[in-house]
Amino acid sequence: MSSQSMPSSISAQDLDSILREDRIFPPPPEFSSTAHIKSLAEYESLYNRSIADPESFWAEAARNLHWFQPWTKTLDWNLPWAKWFVNGKLNLCSNCVDRHALGDNAEKTAIIWEAEPIGEDGQPEIRTLTYAQLHREVQRFANALKSLGIQKGDRVAIYMGMTPELAIALLACARIGAVHNVIFGGFAAHAIADRVNDSQCVAILTQDSSYRRGSEVPLKRTVDEALANTPSVKHVVVLKRSGTPVNMQPGRDWWWHDLVASSRPICPAEPMDSEDPLYILYTSGTTGKPKGLVHTTGGYSVGTYLTTRYCFDLDNPNHPNDVFWCTADIGWVTGHSYVVYGPLQNGATVLMYEGAPNYPGCDRFWDIIDRHKVTIFYTAPTAIRAFIKWGNEHVEKHSLASLRLLGTVGEPINPEAWMWYREKIGHNRCPIVDTWWQTETGGIMIAPIPGAVPTKPGSATRPFFGIQPEVVTPEGKPVPKGSGGLLVIRKPWPSMARTVWGDPERYQKTYWSDVPGSYFTGDGARQDADGYYWLMGRVDDVLNVSGHRLGTMEVESALVAHPKVAEAAVVGRPDDLKGQAVVAFVTLEGHVAASYAKAESSSAADHGSATPASSADSAAPANSLESLKDELKKWVAKEIGPIARPDDIRFTDALPKTRSGKIMRRLLRELATHGEIKGDTTTLEDFQVIAKLRESDEG
Ligand code: ATP
Ligand code: MG
Repeated sequence: MSSQSMPSSISAQDLDSILREDRIFPPPPEFSSTAHIKSLAEYESLYNRSIADPESFWAEAARNLHWFQPWTKTLDWNLPWAKWFVNGKLNLCSNCVDRHALGDNAEKTAIIWEAEPIGEDGQPEIRTLTYAQLHREVQRFANALKSLGIQKGDRVAIYMGMTPELAIALLACARIGAVHNVIFGGFAAHAIADRVNDSQCVAILTQDSSYRRGSEVPLKRTVDEALANTPSVKHVVVLKRSGTPVNMQPGRDWWWHDLVASSRPICPAEPMDSEDPLYILYTSGTTGKPKGLVHTTGGYSVGTYLTTRYCFDLDNPNHPNDVFWCTADIGWVTGHSYVVYGPLQNGATVLMYEGAPNYPGCDRFWDIIDRHKVTIFYTAPTAIRAFIKWGNEHVEKHSLASLRLLGTVGEPINPEAWMWYREKIGHNRCPIVDTWWQTETGGIMIAPIPGAVPTKPGSATRPFFGIQPEVVTPEGKPVPKGSGGLLVIRKPWPSMARTVWGDPERYQKTYWSDVPGSYFTGDGARQDADGYYWLMGRVDDVLNVSGHRLGTMEVESALVAHPKVAEAAVVGRPDDLKGQAVVAFVTLEGHVAASYAKAESSSAADHGSATPASSADSAAPANSLESLKDELKKWVAKEIGPIARPDDIRFTDALPKTRSGKIMRRLLRELATHGEIKGDTTTLEDFQVIAKLRESDEG
């Protein structure tokens, strides 16, 4: 059985929604007046047209790209197998680079890159590439790959840090038709080997080391370890980034700069069939073992082109100086679609930053935004919650005046985090696009078109053009507005994944079997009276309390709304009386946690004395964490109702997350239930978090 679809957790019953959120923010008129889409009426009329005839709608969008040969049929649909732009021939690299380099945008900046380390002059290294320069570099590296015998259809693994060469590597693969398989640069050797072997990669592109939070991450050394178990790999290309010596095996390992030095800067783009695979990418592994999704060329190009254009208002002649910064690592789908392919197809200036948000200080992102005049900023709720935890003083040092649009992706965003983002980063001036989508969907599916759709904190709002989401029962019957259910997509869309690499059966079973005739997302959602979608969390994570089925998002949002709470994850633990008891794992705001720790330690020191810990000098109350637990339980009951009142609250320094920053509730559920973890932990970011949680469990 697939990890995503557990029929046991998909009961016939609806999800109960208990969240009350009625704030609504119309798009700022200054934004709307210069946006691509200027009003709700305009959005609705285009949306209705796109749904009445999706094929014509997508075909019209596709005509904005360069095709070597036009398609003969827009969609060939044989559930669940879709072919888009049948018989069309195009090249995504050429649409990202050549179209601009050979047109009016040759001297426009394509990539601004900022290194993490701060030099002796107090400044980080910065590199910029114009579209003309990118065109040359991509062609030289494409020739370098060819010189190693890499051909169309070969799979190439990429295990690099965030450098301009990483973007060049993707584009060069796309140019010659090699299928890239990017593996996030934080994974360990066995995770690399698994992915390389699953897709039988012939080469690995890597670098000596990368920089992260002031340390060097030895990428080549980790690749060497993986190479002991990857017989398909014939070549390794190594970018020199840090200069730290690495092992180079003659005949197998090549320096990037040597290969490129002897490569000509002219390499014609390979005409690819629309359905030729473009890349393989493994999911984040939040719910189980990662799946290697396959994206193909034509549909993915069109989908990422159009979603970037409208959701981020890019390629807008009113904003020629836009600088677009998506903070995702290219190791994730967000980086593929919204650092590289979407923005470059739109001729945008893309900012890439190498390192951590809190190096050397907690204000690095805000400093970058001010120095490079970033106008559009796209990040994840996990980052936003960290910024909140670190404290407003880091944000308030910076003007952030260049920003005009904000985005978020990756998890449901708690309404209070959304409000903080709006006020502290957007200065109540920038619309927020909360974008719901998945590795499998290739591009954004539900998100407000800024300038057109009013936003509500915590809601991804309305579907993108051509996309028909629906909230249904497991039998596929629509649930009434206001009730929760399973989120499905009714019709195929161009950027959808075509299969799981080497395992079409798993593709069919995981996504197309639970709800007959529909793509099942694995997420729960409800639609409100205005037709807005509210993501309620993963269906696998649903709590079943006294006959009520609760999504995790609403209970967690209630906790996060408490002024002392930074982050929360709730899970169910079997309970004789209620079916499941609600267990909440909670991290506190930075200064609150510190003051409690101080109060606790001084009360421990004072143990036995008549005076309790002193509290006069801090925000910490004299009473203990125990009373804060009671306070939080009461708070949740009051905010959203007694049914959601946590039975058990556990404070922790950090929650277990995937390397892409998503809370792994399945591990917390195992811990809360059995006191140990047996599930797949290869994508866990920090193993110490689990060890600490276990300790506190025993203590
Ligand atoms: P796996 O499928 O291996 O468990 P994953 O689902 O985390 O991992 P991704 O494809 O990176 O892998 O993430 C997609 C999921 O992230 C969505 O299904 C949803 O649960 C969550 N998500 C992404 N964006 C949003 C959003 N804006 N609002 C709510 N949830 C979101
Ligand atoms: Mg998923």
